[in-house]
Amino acid sequence: MSRDEMSELQGRRLHKIVTYVYHNVPFYRHKMQAMDLTPDDINTIEDITKLPFTTKKDLRDNYPFGLQAAPQSEIIRIHASSGTTGNPTIVGYTRKDIGVWTECMARCLTSYGVTRNDIFSVSYGYGLFTGGLGAHNGVEMVGAAVVPASTGNTEKHAKLIRDLGITGIACTPSYALYLAETMEKMGITKDQIKLRVGAFGAEPWTEQMREEIQERLGLKAYNLYGLSEIMGPSVSYECQAQHGSHICEDHFYPEIINPVTLDKLPNGQTGELVFTTLTKEGMPVLRYRTRDLCSLMEGECSCGRTAVRMSRIQGRSDDMLIIRGINVFPSQVESVVLSMPEFAPRYMLIVDRINNLDTLTVQVEIRQEYFTSVFDTPAAIDQLEKKLSAKLKSVLSIGAKVQLKAPNTIERSQGKSAHVIDKRNI
Ligand code: ADP
Ligand code: ZN
Repeated sequence: MSRDEMSELQGRRLHKIVTYVYHNVPFYRHKMQAMDLTPDDINTIEDITKLPFTTKKDLRDNYPFGLQAAPQSEIIRIHASSGTTGNPTIVGYTRKDIGVWTECMARCLTSYGVTRNDIFSVSYGYGLFTGGLGAHNGVEMVGAAVVPASTGNTEKHAKLIRDLGITGIACTPSYALYLAETMEKMGITKDQIKLRVGAFGAEPWTEQMREEIQERLGLKAYNLYGLSEIMGPSVSYECQAQHGSHICEDHFYPEIINPVTLDKLPNGQTGELVFTTLTKEGMPVLRYRTRDLCSLMEGECSCGRTAVRMSRIQGRSDDMLIIRGINVFPSQVESVVLSMPEFAPRYMLIVDRINNLDTLTVQVEIRQEYFTSVFDTPAAIDQLEKKLSAKLKSVLSIGAKVQLKAPNTIERSQGKSAHVIDKRNI
């Protein structure tokens, strides 16, 4: 589609979605009323800058269904993603939404060169996260044979890759490296397997990781980007040119803003990525602030696609960490620590990557008044550690190693990453 045709389509869809949320989501109606806006003020895609932003906090404040626009009877699937504290983000999809998502995911796979002749393993987690089922539907639509391997059970998965002649795989880049290592340990060599295409995403990764994965698994590695608030995997994807990821901009309209002034930035400049869903029925969002930092590239790509491209994610404008593909906020750890009287509000998250697997260690200071009694008996220390681990696991959805510290031993550092030491090279 030419740029003019695309802009015209986006403008039409924007007017429609704004009208829809105005009438169906009180949160947006009130925001627009406060800004003296009605849907009639939004007619072209350029009018988008008049609209209010949406943040993860807005989703949390309206937990669980406050931003849902469709009646519950129209919702056919519900996913959930990590919230900053306490409540997860809930996203409901109508049948049409699942159809759009499936089509966008099929676009990604087709762009990677996947066809009906492939046997394709989906090794994102199945469950509340959008990765597994999202990729799964797309593979079925393309007509390849999907192997819903999910995560875990890596040795069995490696055996299936060899025995079934699996040709494609979708997983996190760090899991791909872990899989490569498992195969090497099992004595499975590159010439025994037929992997040729990998769809990697859900966490940031580098060109060095791409080269290493390609070398060790013998496939071509493509980027796949998405987030559950917008849809899930398939918001953008690399093509054969691998010069940025094409955004499905007929459904997800991107903008780059300065995260401090909130002004829209011209294409080419790095800032925070913002998306407006142009066709979503279940939980449409206007100008959702992803907190992901990147830039947009316009102009035709050598692959022939005209859809705008985004650069790799260069960082975050908040303190969210992605550990084994799962979003973790230091504030989640803080809420657990504060809920237990034994601990002072001093803690540190230490993230590392050991044998290609992310590890999380949480250090917490014991309060002075508990310190003497607790550290008297090893059994009591052990019990307190277990109690903290269990609480962390239920809040974070991933296991963390716990280290209890004596009072005033955790160093106070300044600035944004005061509670995080990330030793991974990403
Ligand atoms: P997912 O299930 O894809 O992880 P979430 O909504 O839980 O979806 O997390 C979305 C976040 O994951 C994004 O905002 C971004 O920070 C990160 N992410 C997803 N895909 C990529 C990617 N290809 N490269 C870098 N970061 C990514
Ligand atoms: Zn391209």
